[in-house]
Amino acid sequence: MGEVTHRGSCNCGAVRFEIEGTLGPFGFCHCRTCRKASGTAFTANASVKRENVRFLNGEDTIRRYESSPGVFRCFCGTCGSPIYKESAEAPGTIRIRLGTLDTDVGAKPLAHAFWDEKADWYDLKGDMPVYETWAPELTSKK
Ligand SMILES: [Zn+2]
Ligand SMILES: [Zn+2]
Repeated sequence: MGEVTHRGSCNCGAVRFEIEGTLGPFGFCHCRTCRKASGTAFTANASVKRENVRFLNGEDTIRRYESSPGVFRCFCGTCGSPIYKESAEAPGTIRIRLGTLDTDVGAKPLAHAFWDEKADWYDLKGDMPVYETWAPELTSKK
């Protein structure tokens, strides 16, 4: 086992976890389901190997919602904080919601994905490339 690089938790503290190893690249996804799942303009998720995530607390309180076939949004059953997303296509990987981390991410977002579906009140592109749907910077790993 490697060393713990990140720690995270939900809003109520029922769910606590730690991560070993590196986080995958991330950007902002503006797609409709990400907006619904986060309650705001976009999500920021990074891939991590499932075997590198250890739940210290509350794994049994996590609830799963199948937002599209084979894609599950996993959240704290007590406070509703989104914790991660998982997909039947990539069973060895989960997509951690970076907002749950209590430690610094130590990296910057790389791209805007699904700009075509973005909220009309958000238009800050910054320095990042913008893609109408998938961002290649973010999908190459999977
Ligand atoms: Zn919670
Ligand atoms: Zn999305």
